[in-house]
Amino acid sequence: MIDGDRAGFMATVSGPRAFRAEQRRMFDGLRALPLGSYRLRAEWGALGDLARRSDAARYAGTEQVAIPVTEVRYRLRGADVRPVIEDAYYTYVRRGGRWSVTSDDDVADLGYTTATDLWDFGRVAVQRRPRLVLLRGSCGASVPGRCVHVPGVAATVRVASARVDGLWPGPWPHRVVVIVPASEPELRRLLDVGFDVNRFVAFATYGTDRALRRTGVRVVVNPPVIAQPGRDVEVVLAHELTHVATSYLAGPFVPAWVDEGIAQYVGYDGSPPVADRPSGLPPDAAFTSGTAGAIDNAYRRAAGAVSYIVHRWGMGSFLRFYRRLGAVRIAPGTTRYHVAVALRRSIGVGPRGLVRAWTGPHGP
Ligand SMILES: [Zn+2]
Repeated sequence: MIDGDRAGFMATVSGPRAFRAEQRRMFDGLRALPLGSYRLRAEWGALGDLARRSDAARYAGTEQVAIPVTEVRYRLRGADVRPVIEDAYYTYVRRGGRWSVTSDDDVADLGYTTATDLWDFGRVAVQRRPRLVLLRGSCGASVPGRCVHVPGVAATVRVASARVDGLWPGPWPHRVVVIVPASEPELRRLLDVGFDVNRFVAFATYGTDRALRRTGVRVVVNPPVIAQPGRDVEVVLAHELTHVATSYLAGPFVPAWVDEGIAQYVGYDGSPPVADRPSGLPPDAAFTSGTAGAIDNAYRRAAGAVSYIVHRWGMGSFLRFYRRLGAVRIAPGTTRYHVAVALRRSIGVGPRGLVRAWTGPHGP
């Protein structure tokens, strides 16, 4: 891959014509990127060998069939500080003493699906700026759909980055990868989520490494929605870039209200829309499910809680809270418990005290 040896790469691929075409497309797509490193590794210790008797039967005439999790690990130059880690479920078969990869979806029925990236759809157009790597889908024939051109993304990212730098004091590398799919079907394939993507202008996505740190944080825009006139694209991109910036301190116990609250606070330049009547802290599910009004209310409650912390105790205290909570990685206890501990140590009150102060007579 790194040397651009397509024939060498394809010599390890077998299987039906369509799969080989997919792998060739992926190779060409990846080669378009500023790849700093790229490595595939069979992780036998993670899930063992997932191949069932039915999988072996599918490849009659082979000497051996194995489906371990394959860890895909790559780094984009000028963008990724930590390697990006994704899972692939390649089927390895041995024929005549030689191993090759022959499929990537044999265990999809078990819920083990190979990660989908923009380069799986074909060539990627790469735009590099000092603090930005912008990847655009090429609108190829592999994913049919109406292609939408989204102009001006790099300029808007520059404005949004300045807003993040002005308000978020936490350390981060000030570099982002923004992905602009060519069409809505490409976006859907990339995100693979259950909720209605058309409510959103852009998304921040990430994976996690073995230490449960967030890696491969990407901002993915929704091409037909971002292109609609009247959208406040700067606010949305500053919101998503805040997710990128905070991801360097985040951990598995940071709930959605904390992440969405700070992203709204920064996105709206310190004055986000907040709920008229403050109520408790919204659960994670409130941000993706329910009516559009209910989702909007969850964001307003989150923004209200975070704004209150910042106004009353200062951004330094919020940062201390976020850093403390994010640093908890592999630990017993629930999110609720870890949030309570981190809040108490940073602002002196727990979630109940916070909600009481925020909604009480001395609230905002
Ligand atoms: Zn968000």
